Amino acid sequence: MARVLVLGAGLTGSACAALLRGAVRGRVVVWDKARGAGGRMSTSRSARDAACSADLGAQYVSPRAGRAGPHGSFYDELLSHGILKPLTAPIEGMVEKEGSCNYMAPQGISSVVKYYLKQSDADVFYEYHVTHIFLRDGKWEVSRKMGPPELFDIVILTMPVPQVLQLQGDIVNIINERQKQQLKATSYSSRYALGLFYEAGVCIDVPWAAKYITDNPCIRFISIDNKKRNIESPEIGPSVVVHTTVTFGSEHLDSDPAEVQQLILNHLERIVPSLPKPASVKCQKWRYSQVTKSVPNCPGHMILHTQPLLICGGDGFTCSNFDGCIDSAMSLAEAVKSYL
Ligand SMILES: Cc1cc2nc3c(=O)[nH]c(=O)nc-3n(C[C@H](O)[C@H](O)[C@H](O)COP(=O)(O)OP(=O)(O)OC[C@H]3O[C@@H](n4cnc5c(N)ncnc54)[C@H](O)[C@@H]3O)c2cc1C
Repeated sequence: MARVLVLGAGLTGSACAALLRGAVRGRVVVWDKARGAGGRMSTSRSARDAACSADLGAQYVSPRAGRAGPHGSFYDELLSHGILKPLTAPIEGMVEKEGSCNYMAPQGISSVVKYYLKQSDADVFYEYHVTHIFLRDGKWEVSRKMGPPELFDIVILTMPVPQVLQLQGDIVNIINERQKQQLKATSYSSRYALGLFYEAGVCIDVPWAAKYITDNPCIRFISIDNKKRNIESPEIGPSVVVHTTVTFGSEHLDSDPAEVQQLILNHLERIVPSLPKPASVKCQKWRYSQVTKSVPNCPGHMILHTQPLLICGGDGFTCSNFDGCIDSAMSLAEAVKSYL
């Protein structure tokens, strides 16, 4: 009976766990350091009203070649279950390619990840922050910040590449020099996201559902998130998402979060002066936001060790979107199946 650990409950990890369902004689376990599912496909909820939510990371998904493309069956499945729906709300400044379509997640983008976790039938544990990976008698001993270490036959890493390189223990020497150079060649952009949550009944009077901003040093994108997701109910408070520019994100990466939040709010007020005062605000720092340079010569995954198997994947091995994560999840699952 094999025990397989998928590290990371983001899109790559959840889709990989779902693709492994039935293939592993034993159990698939998913660990994530966060308090819930989603990773960079996260949906944050207002502390006062869980129905008031905002997508702080990915906003919508755009199939590479429409539904006829290579992942058509993934989109069809998510559409048929109502997890994704066509994005029909007006997005100002969005670059539309001919024949392209976009989808949003009415229950929040993390519902995509939750769907795959449910499909996987895996045992999922949150607030499991892995710090060390050791090789012990032909198995992986995985240690986390709190709680005892556990043994696994296969470990699949799906976090951003710099976070793989931060892991301690035998893994440090298991990753060979050539692989280290490849992994270190990867780069990510950084940005902040603000979620603004409002009481039910508050009206946000702008003609768009979301808007790309091109002439502000701090703000790149604003979404009236409930409107983007076609949720306009008098019982549910509206929510607003703000993404900063990459330049602002990099310049303020280690600044005081309260100061960063205020700076973003000041810019927001100048761009949308009619915006009411929110009931609460969440400031999210995405240190590893989107991949700007993927791992060279390594599409989909990298095998770090074979007996036992230690393998890593994620958008760092493809690109930062739904298709990129599904490509990596498929390539990880194939590699694991061929090993079993
Ligand atoms: C601001 C922003 C906007 C975006 N917009 C879009 C968009 O509109 N459309 C689109 O398709 N994509 C978009 N993306 C990209 C998309 O969100 C990512 O490509 C995708 O979510 C990556 O998924 P992943 O599973 O590979 O990684 P992640 O989502 O990062 O998942 C990795 C998981 O590993 C966990 N983890 C890390 N280290 C540890 C550890 N030591 N122990 C335990 N757990 C650990 C993390 O908590 C995380 O949940 C956006 C991303 C950001 C940040």
